[in-house]
Amino acid sequence: MSKKILLHICCAPDGTVPIPDLLNEGWEVYGFFYGSNIHPLDEYLRRLNAIRIVTAHNGITCTIPDYLPGDWLKEIHGLESEPEGGKRCAKCFTVQLEASAHEAIRLGCEYMSTTLTISPHKNVKLINEIGESVSSSHGLKWESRIWRKNNGFLRSVKISRELGLYRQNYCGCTFSITHTV
Ligand code: SF4
Repeated sequence: MSKKILLHICCAPDGTVPIPDLLNEGWEVYGFFYGSNIHPLDEYLRRLNAIRIVTAHNGITCTIPDYLPGDWLKEIHGLESEPEGGKRCAKCFTVQLEASAHEAIRLGCEYMSTTLTISPHKNVKLINEIGESVSSSHGLKWESRIWRKNNGFLRSVKISRELGLYRQNYCGCTFSITHTV
């Protein structure tokens, strides 16, 4: 029997490689798109539409929780002026992976992973450490991956283009709008 994994999908382009790679390895993959960190609403909707395209293309389901940007802002309160890649982002990863863990438990998944590590701009060591910590605190196993390895990022750009996916030019929150991903 295949193992069930909850894959936290931060955005559609970043999911283009991890989803089929995990499926090809024999995993039963369930997607989860947090989304409440994304600002403004029309940007969230563009990214959500792209998530629906990539998950349908790969034939997996994806849980879409309510869009609650006010809740996300409360979570990162006090860290607003942190630079991108700093403490606000570490908290943001934790919030997203905590939500993912709850969904993993609801779906009966034993494992969890994230697409975040495909980005050449993200601290993959930190992301996997947070993933390990959040997973173990919920009795889940963290599937530690660095998706940008083996040309992962370039593959994601190519597949995103083939699928006509919307590709954002900032990470997501209002504080990242002047930065590039
Ligand atoms: S820059 Fe990205 S990772 Fe950092 S807090 Fe904003 S949305 Fe989250």
